[in-house]
Order: sequence, then C-alpha cells, then structure tokens
Amino acid sequence: MNIFVLLKRTFDTEEKITITNGFIDEEGAEFIINPYDEYAVEEAIQIRDAHGGEVTVVTVGGEESEKQLRTALAMGADKAVLINVEDDLEDGDQFTTAKILAEFLKDKEADVILAGNVTIDGGSGQVGPRVAELLGIPYVTTITEIEIKGTQAKLIRDVEGDSEVIETSLPLLVTAQQGLNEPRYPSLPGIMKAKKKPLDELELDDLDLEEEDVEPKTKTIEVFLPPKKETGKILEGDLSDQVKELVQLLHTEAKVV
Ligand SMILES: Cc1cc2nc3c(=O)[nH]c(=O)nc-3n(C[C@H](O)[C@H](O)[C@H](O)COP(=O)(O)OP(=O)(O)OC[C@H]3O[C@@H](n4cnc5c(N)ncnc54)[C@H](O)[C@@H]3O)c2cc1C
Repeated sequence: MNIFVLLKRTFDTEEKITITNGFIDEEGAEFIINPYDEYAVEEAIQIRDAHGGEVTVVTVGGEESEKQLRTALAMGADKAVLINVEDDLEDGDQFTTAKILAEFLKDKEADVILAGNVTIDGGSGQVGPRVAELLGIPYVTTITEIEIKGTQAKLIRDVEGDSEVIETSLPLLVTAQQGLNEPRYPSLPGIMKAKKKPLDELELDDLDLEEEDVEPKTKTIEVFLPPKKETGKILEGDLSDQVKELVQLLHTEAKVV
C-alpha cells in the first residue's frame, strides 16, 4: 500500500506568542510536528504494518522542516520529501500549499493520504480537503478510526462528540482527529535508523510549477493577540447594594443586559 502523510512544522503553542510588525515572532520559539499530523504519521505506520507497503511523509516548507521530517522517519515512516519553497516564494496560503502538494502527489498512485484535521498555528483545516479536491479523490475529515479491506475503507469520524460511520473506496484522503491513536515516541534505534532513510528535497521547478501557478488567493491583513484579560472586580458593601452595582456594571461596562 502506497501511503502518504502531509506534515506541517508548527510552532509549539505552549510557547509565549508575540507579534512583531504584524507577524507572529518566531525568534527563539520551539517548533514541533503539528500534533494532528503526529496522529496521521502513527496511523500511516499502523496501516503499513497491517497491509504492507511504505509510508512517505511530505512537507511544503523550508530547510528547517527537515528536523520534523526526521522525527517522522524516526517514528517509523520510510521516506520523507521536503518541497522547499524558501527560494521561490515569498507568500503562500492554503491554496498555494494544497496546489503544490497535489502537483507532487498526482502521479504517485497513492492509496491513502493522511493529513491532520487542522494545524495549531494556521488553523484553517483547508489543506487536506483542498488536496483531495485537486486530485479528484474522496476525503473524510476528523476521523477517529479507519479500517481498510481491499480497496474499501470504513471510517468513523468525530462529529462534535458524536460519531458518524462512513464507507468509501481507495484512493482516499483522510484527516486525523484526536483519539485516532496514541502516537509513539521515536525510539533510540528509530532515531539512528532515521539518519539513513531517504529525505529528498524538491523545488517548484521539479514539479513543473511556476510562481504564478501557486500565487496565494488570500492576503492576511492583520494578526493580533486577544485583548489582555482585565483583573476581576470585587464588590463590597451590603448584598443588596452589591446586586444593584452588579446590574449597573453588566449594563454599562459589560453591556450584556
Ligand atoms: C511560501 C509560503 C509563505 C507563507 N507565508 C506565510 C505568512 O507570511 N504568514 C502565515 O501566517 N502563513 C504563511 N504561510 C503558511 C500558509 O498560509 C498556511 O499556514 C498553510 O498553507 C497551511 O494552512 P493552515 O496552517 O491553515 O493548515 P490547515 O489547513 O489547518 O492544515 C491541515 C493539514 O494540512 C496539512 N498541511 C498544512 N500545511 C502543510 C504544509 N506546509 N506541508 C504539508 N502539509 C501541510 C497537514 O496535514 C495539516 O495538519 C506560507 C506558506 C507558504 C507556502
């Protein structure tokens, strides 16, 4: 079985986020595999172990994404591909990323493509479905279970806490939801082996893409942090006076009544 995982390097949202000149300041931040993509890597490895074949992880990004690709290889993926757009593109959005990934995947005869449900930084949840649309294959989002029999797949997807059971056929793209599995930690032998596994690097040229083919369709106008939480107010005095003051504040300050 030919299995692909779409993997994004994201900054760790446990990090303190600061905005500089309208952009999230990445200086000194820790970077990780997007957590939902870890579920995708784990599931891909389990599918390969059950059905045979190989797992390829692919990222659109820059040189520094190599670290996260090596981690996926250390978990057990077989190959990695970095589509390095650093020198070719200044801007990109979900269209850009999906178009590049679909162009890479179109002749790979993938049976199953796994992506994360959403990234913890960009958070649009668009890239997986967009890639499937461009490839003209079925997709099922937020899956918590996948069972493959021949060319058929039975999936359970999370629908806001409820479950939906879906049957479809391969080739198929799915997006991973929390609860799909418990991603393994890379073992020491896994880390050693990963150093020798193939990590290919491609550029737009290798995919016969020009800059204008992947021009972003959207523009981010502004990025800002939520307003700082104000300290709480403690009301004092008689209970009846406190209630009056509370109602007054709800009316004039919170403007909720
Ligand atoms: C050249 C370039 C410049 C960019 N510049 C900026 C910028 O200045 N500011 C900014 O905020 N963003 C920038 N981006 C990032 C871009 O806007 C989105 O972050 C990216 O397209 C993914 O969208 P998302 O984070 O909403 O992912 P989602 O749609 O939420 O991701 C869902 C899933 O899709 C897959 N996926 C997503 N992204 C990738 C990827 N890169 N490679 C492989 N799989 C992926 C993963 O499986 C992920 O879990 C740039 C992108 C490119 C290509």
